Amino acid sequence: MDSLMQNDPARVIEADRAHVWHHMMQHRQLETTDPRIIVEGRGMRVWDITGKEHLDATSGGVWTVNVGYGRERIADAVRDHLVKMCYFAGSQGTVPGARFAEALTEKMPGLSRVYFANSGSEANEKAFKMVRQIAHKHHGGRKSKILYRERDYHGTTLACLSAGGQLERNAQYGPFAPGFVMVPHCLEYRAQDEFAGSDYGVRAAEAIEEVILREGPDTVGALCLEPITAGGGIIVPPRGYWEKVQEICRKYDVLLHIDEVVCGMGRTGTWFGYQQFGVKPDIVTMAKGVASGYAAISCCVTTEAVFERFKDASDPMAHFRDISTFGGCTSGPVAALENLRILEEEELPDNSTRMGVYLQEGLFALMEKHRVIGDVRGMGLFAGAELVADRDTREPVSEKQVGAVVADCLKQGVLIGASNRSVPGLNNVLLFAPALIAEEDDIDEILEAVDGALGRVFG
Ligand code: PMP
Repeated sequence: MDSLMQNDPARVIEADRAHVWHHMMQHRQLETTDPRIIVEGRGMRVWDITGKEHLDATSGGVWTVNVGYGRERIADAVRDHLVKMCYFAGSQGTVPGARFAEALTEKMPGLSRVYFANSGSEANEKAFKMVRQIAHKHHGGRKSKILYRERDYHGTTLACLSAGGQLERNAQYGPFAPGFVMVPHCLEYRAQDEFAGSDYGVRAAEAIEEVILREGPDTVGALCLEPITAGGGIIVPPRGYWEKVQEICRKYDVLLHIDEVVCGMGRTGTWFGYQQFGVKPDIVTMAKGVASGYAAISCCVTTEAVFERFKDASDPMAHFRDISTFGGCTSGPVAALENLRILEEEELPDNSTRMGVYLQEGLFALMEKHRVIGDVRGMGLFAGAELVADRDTREPVSEKQVGAVVADCLKQGVLIGASNRSVPGLNNVLLFAPALIAEEDDIDEILEAVDGALGRVFG
């Protein structure tokens, strides 16, 4: 059956059309077009079922495959371990779990405990539950509020959506969980006031302090932020922001939870995005690049101080009473350990920095040529180009036009992404997140495709 399906693309396409409910898709479109089915990947490239080759500037659609496709050593390591010990959960540990936790925390000075789960959303749920339990155990039920930022995204479950700053993703899914409070975004290009540069950075962080004071510092347990807002439009916080954020968290005894689901594992040029800014988080969550999609694994990593708060032998309710069934799959940490070794041996975080500079320079050059690019932002191999109809008013182009640019690139065999609608009409950022193995030729090919697409769509 398998080989039959593989030899018959039409049957696969029909099976997909008839039975698969695709993520993030309006299925009406499949009434007139075929689903795109990706069958093979090598390095930076993937092939679809029609045989068409694509250069992937999205790392698997959603910024996951950091080490690129077709890594046999990851597959071999997973296979070897699965036949020996595929799975065990509950309060038992596994060899790969212990080894990966040790290797991971070596990259995260100040953090020491790894809690395994499967998805970014799940890791964030764990973090939220830790904060809530600390509030109950140590603050008499107060300090249970969790602050999140406008335009940030933390996942798809109802608690994560309750901490979600992107309107499009939240609309029609309420009511949401109580105790989550939004703070303003820090996108200088669309600043809420007249401040600029580090003044804006400090101001944007002070806006968080205002929310803490409004809510009451004794009610606020944690602040959850992306180091660089990803799907909300590649927002690199301005200078001065993170220093002030850290100071505010310390001042009001608010735990700092950083969501590294996208930025982790070298994406921005350091092992973790927060390390670009000298921040010292209490909790860090990560998923996508942890095993580059070769296995489903996510982690919620904490300081020893956070971990210690769950130790009290005299209280039967004091430990973290949580479990993740598939947090016991050994395929996750085996793949993650091999993935980490590849990142390290091939110095991929450094390559991300180098190629990220090259990518941004190229985008700035395109900005000179195409007035529709209003802003270029990013860090490492993670960049965004915001498209505007008018550079003075910064009025965004339409979603349809953004879609046309992405579709034109696809036609040319280059996969790029676009932001999620954070506020109505603001789905106007082209996203670039190629695998960290990208070379200059790959970046040139991506830029050429975008150049051509912008020329055709906007004239
Ligand atoms: N946090 C961030 C910053 C994300 O971008 C995402 C997914 N795009 C998530 C969390 C949720 O991860 P998952 O889809 O694995 O649940």
